[in-house]
Amino acid sequence: MKESLFNLSQLSNYVFNQLPFKMGIIKRMKKYLILGLTLFLVYGCVQDKSKETSLVIVEKHGTAQLTVVLGTKPSAAERRVTELLAERIKDRTGLVLSRSDKNTEYHLVLGTVATNEKIKTFAAKHRDIETLGADGYYISVDPSESELYVIGQSESGVVAGVGKLMREMRYKQGKLEVPALQISETPQMPNRGMYLWARRYYFDNPDQLDRYIEELALWGCNGVSFWFEMAMFNSFQDTTGNQGESGDWYNHYFKEGKKYLPQEWITKYQRFYNTARRMGMKTGLLMVANDAYMSSPKEMRIEPIIGAPGWAMCPSKPGSVEQMLDWQEEVFRALSPIDIFNIFPADPGGCSCDECTPWPTNGLWKIALPLGDRIHEISPGTEIWIDTWHLNHPTFGGKDWQNLVDSLDSSKETPKWFAGFEVGMAPHHKFAGMSAEERNYYNNAKRPITVFPDISMWGNHEGMLVNKEYWKSLQSEINDYDPKLMKGGWPYTERWNTDIANIVFLSWFKNSKKSVDTILDEYASFYFGPEAETGRKLLDLLDDENKDSQQKQKIRETLAKLESTVPAWVKNDWRWNEIVLSCSRFM
Ligand SMILES: [Zn+2]
Repeated sequence: MKESLFNLSQLSNYVFNQLPFKMGIIKRMKKYLILGLTLFLVYGCVQDKSKETSLVIVEKHGTAQLTVVLGTKPSAAERRVTELLAERIKDRTGLVLSRSDKNTEYHLVLGTVATNEKIKTFAAKHRDIETLGADGYYISVDPSESELYVIGQSESGVVAGVGKLMREMRYKQGKLEVPALQISETPQMPNRGMYLWARRYYFDNPDQLDRYIEELALWGCNGVSFWFEMAMFNSFQDTTGNQGESGDWYNHYFKEGKKYLPQEWITKYQRFYNTARRMGMKTGLLMVANDAYMSSPKEMRIEPIIGAPGWAMCPSKPGSVEQMLDWQEEVFRALSPIDIFNIFPADPGGCSCDECTPWPTNGLWKIALPLGDRIHEISPGTEIWIDTWHLNHPTFGGKDWQNLVDSLDSSKETPKWFAGFEVGMAPHHKFAGMSAEERNYYNNAKRPITVFPDISMWGNHEGMLVNKEYWKSLQSEINDYDPKLMKGGWPYTERWNTDIANIVFLSWFKNSKKSVDTILDEYASFYFGPEAETGRKLLDLLDDENKDSQQKQKIRETLAKLESTVPAWVKNDWRWNEIVLSCSRFM
């Protein structure tokens, strides 16, 4: 029994036996049958496993009747995701996975054809596995068999597959239920990243961020990107943390008594990149094209421009391009290997001098072209993308970005490193938003496109952000781009409260047609467990667009209900605090 859920050509997804109401009927029928037959027979004798719709794992001899079977040389991602799975199961059910496959009823075989011999054998009999696309996964749970499989096309596929399995599992104290599954799924887009604006919320909680990066991978995320913000520091080598002569740009940070040291920051980036790599993810680095340290030579500085500190450098001044390239190279080498490099044009960045105006084609390109060349020379495998954020601003020549796009369109001989355009997605933003006509402009250029969606810079409030209508508008923007050109992107996320929006985007990078409600159902099911329905109701009530006249009262009641019914593991997750904080606006 199979039914197709999606019709996208790039995506095949077959799920069977997953409908809860069918399971309910089958369970009830079985109950009566068993009641009748126990008059004559022992229960175990009539149990026919081939008719089971799920398998139930409990404890025997002190360990769970489930063990994970890795290959002889498992990858770091396979080992780590096994730990995460074991921790999650223990945390939610109290069950400890068995370390031995002897005397253990169920074996979860996990890995790729290359890392696990058992998978190689299994794959030879299942052609779906051979046809998995990049980062795809295959999950097989047949309750009549003792072996369960999560097979990835890549490390990222294995991790995402285990994440999917975790979300299908049902957790109860002392009991883990795994439904019958046969899923074969390949993500629609190759770059399923997350841009973490690291400065305050994330970098101040490095342990939580490490874990968060891993959890994003469980939802299919295959890259993290950071911005190394040169302008925060006096120089790359600075060990004092003192501000340069013009450092008032960052006064509000320094006033808190914090001193930022570039080498400390580099160490943090390396740490988070390592966490990401261990999960089979890519590393991304965003750099502002004409960024500079506070100690930049005065004669090379910009004419002031919106959103850029005064010590940024003008690429039209003698010697400045060479200096900027050396600085960029220094950062790039310190953080290598970098898979994806984004050259950012503005906000901050730019120059308004005569020689640099209009900025996209006259100023930006003077530095972006040699910068791309330099990075490509150092690391030929790095994807180099040109971002066009904020270029609709009149200061940046209004529509001169179109001339930049024209100069790089598919009919032109472009630099060999040029991977494509990263386009802002911010319908509420006057200068970064793109009209339907403008989106079509990119389609006509016929170059690969990634998006840089704004999911956190607007309507900031305390606690978890929920705004389905806004998200739907972003979804229609994504689907406005030619699917053949659309390669994914990096949502801009600046603090923990964008978690749901992050998951929404990761789900779309996998399948851009998936509805927001379906994604929220999956989210609620995973993070509220047995109270998923009430949790889901609360998320809808917290929606910024919710117009319910009794919203306040309903939020209080729903939260109170959850407070008294959710298992402890729900409350121990930091997401719970974000949700409570979001509710506190209505208390
Ligand atoms: Zn200039």
